[in-house]
Amino acid sequence: MSSLDDLYREIILDHYRTPRNRGELEPPAVRVEGFNPLCGDEIVVYLDVRDGVVTEIKLTGQGCSISQASSSLMSAAVKGKSVDDARNVIATFKDLMTGPSDVAPTSSDLRRLGELAALAGVVKFPVRIKCATLAWNTLSQALDEATN
Ligand code: ZN
Repeated sequence: MSSLDDLYREIILDHYRTPRNRGELEPPAVRVEGFNPLCGDEIVVYLDVRDGVVTEIKLTGQGCSISQASSSLMSAAVKGKSVDDARNVIATFKDLMTGPSDVAPTSSDLRRLGELAALAGVVKFPVRIKCATLAWNTLSQALDEATN
């Protein structure tokens, strides 16, 4: 195993053990639930959007380490970003998860993703991709609701 894999494993474990942005937001924050029946992962995203910016995001939920680490990484990646930037991060991440698994992400892809690149290895385990993308699909829905 390469040291990069070690680093990625540490990032995932860190976000699983010490999840960022845990908690709830009061209305009028948007609240959207996501569920991955394949694994039993649950995520609730609370989202506050003001003037086109994700001013606050909180998460509750439970599930496997990949789903919970991914939601924590997701919240850290989009908090304080504009809605457009947040949608771009979602698109970049989903590209990473749905890309051909025999094509390794380029180093510029990985740089752009920052800590999110830690989840790139999930692509090798198709059954876990839904665990990793659950938070992102839920966020996408929350952004739609918050900007309607
Ligand atoms: Zn899972």
